[in-house]
Amino acid sequence: MQPYYVPVGDEVEIFRAAYDQRIPVLLKGPTGCGKTRFCEYMAWQIAAQRQIDPVDELVTVTCHDDMTAADLVGRYLLSGEGTTWLDGPLTRAVRSGAICYLDEVVEARKDTTVVLHSLTDHRRILPIERLGATLEAHPDFLLVVSYNPGYQATVKDLKPSTRQRFLALEFGYPAPDVEAEIIAHESGLDAEASLQLAFLAQRLRNLDDADLIDGPGTRLLVHAGQLMRAGVAPLRACDAALVDAVTDDPDIQEAVRGVTTAVYAA
Ligand code: ADP
Repeated sequence: MQPYYVPVGDEVEIFRAAYDQRIPVLLKGPTGCGKTRFCEYMAWQIAAQRQIDPVDELVTVTCHDDMTAADLVGRYLLSGEGTTWLDGPLTRAVRSGAICYLDEVVEARKDTTVVLHSLTDHRRILPIERLGATLEAHPDFLLVVSYNPGYQATVKDLKPSTRQRFLALEFGYPAPDVEAEIIAHESGLDAEASLQLAFLAQRLRNLDDADLIDGPGTRLLVHAGQLMRAGVAPLRACDAALVDAVTDDPDIQEAVRGVTTAVYAA
């Protein structure tokens, strides 16, 4: 089944053009705004074109601060016969011509980004030191990474030498009518209640509070919609899915709760 994705701007066309030229893509935007879903959707389309199973088209890696280059590239494992080399997810994608999606790439340790450099310029090669080999990327291989400038830029940033290898696609929050359509589809909530949630989100995102770096993403609205659909009262659903989920700061929670109460207690 084709992943459900509602385009918000021209991201589908730009990604297609980038893919056709094999230009690496950086998806920028707050959490829960559809970057991963978009990648799945594009990979599905490309798999159809390449006539391969969509499962083989996309290799997704969620980066974290313990992640090393070996986790991406591969390592020797002890086995009965001695040691056996096991390709990491990046190497698998480089060999097979898949899209490799590194979610939250700045979370990974520095040595991992170095590995990406020779793959993201004209060389398109992956040196595998441990094997003493250099892999030439399959002609269809493409690297896609995501990055959340909101919170990650404050603690970690992508170095210019890395980020300038990518074409950047900025993801924002969809307009309320589009977001309502997504909420309704994903949660099964009716159109009117979905629109109300989408407008609520818009107000929350406009809250003038520097501490709320990321407003609620579409993912949280879908959660709230799912609770409401299951019969949870709207205010309680918002408390669980939005208020407590976006922050632990009591003052900000109060501000967020003020908005949800104004919308649902009316
Ligand atoms: P991100 O990768 O940006 O953190 P996701 O792609 O995981 O966010 O999106 C979170 C959820 O929000 C998805 O599972 C989907 O239900 C919904 N979603 C967000 N944007 C869209 C969109 N444009 N079309 C369809 N679903 C969307």
